[in-house]
Amino acid sequence: MGSTDSSNLPYIQSSPKIIFFTDFDGTITLKDSNDFLTDNLGYGQVKRKQGNEDVLTGKSSFRDSFREMLDSVKPGFAECIQILKENMKLDPYFEEFYNWAKENNVPIVVLSSGMVPIISGLFEELLGHKPDPKHLAIVANDVESRDGKDINTPGGWQIKYHDDSHFGHNKSLEIKPYAALPADKRPILLYAGDGVSDLSAAAETDLLFAKKGHDLIRFCEREGMPFTVFEDWSTILATTKDIYNGKVSVENVAKQGLEKVQAGEAGL
Ligand SMILES: [Mg+2]
Repeated sequence: MGSTDSSNLPYIQSSPKIIFFTDFDGTITLKDSNDFLTDNLGYGQVKRKQGNEDVLTGKSSFRDSFREMLDSVKPGFAECIQILKENMKLDPYFEEFYNWAKENNVPIVVLSSGMVPIISGLFEELLGHKPDPKHLAIVANDVESRDGKDINTPGGWQIKYHDDSHFGHNKSLEIKPYAALPADKRPILLYAGDGVSDLSAAAETDLLFAKKGHDLIRFCEREGMPFTVFEDWSTILATTKDIYNGKVSVENVAKQGLEKVQAGEAGL
């Protein structure tokens, strides 16, 4: 950020008490849309899992491996979106969270390694309407033509990364200016995620909702990051309401979260 002027930061214009940052795939949706495309319309699950392994062992970067994975998906882009609309589902309680957040001036910021047109297409289909852009923002990668072709022809599209980071989209960039606000202007910052790429972003917030049964929980434990475990968005909504109403502090939620994991209740 070239400037320390915070008055233009979009998500604090309505002076919210809380800003809710969240991952999309596997967090708001039940399945990961990029994995679905790769497994069903690209080079398949075996190669995808090998690619993930290569990233973990340092053989390839996430950025390159993810691009390769999506390059293997053959249909044109519009067809991919259509197939995803028919196969993806939102968490059954996300819509309730969305409505509550809208009524209570809690902006939702979706931070994703996926692509904006897929995410907005899925929201429109699965919520039954376009999300209100004043209330829900999508910050993600984009799509562009491959070799000058029409993106809606087979092999005609490729992912266009958001920034130069290892992950293609460094999710913490969007949060940092809010985390740096002076205490009297800084809302409570919450984050929900299910993957390791959510970790650096969540480190900027006050509390991470980490999805039950995922490795992310172990990382949080090791790093001493404040977190709590969620199974679906009904848990997230209940806890966010309590934080909003001052019934519970983020510190207490994190303390209870850690105790649950230590008692073996995190599905690991
Ligand atoms: Mg995810």
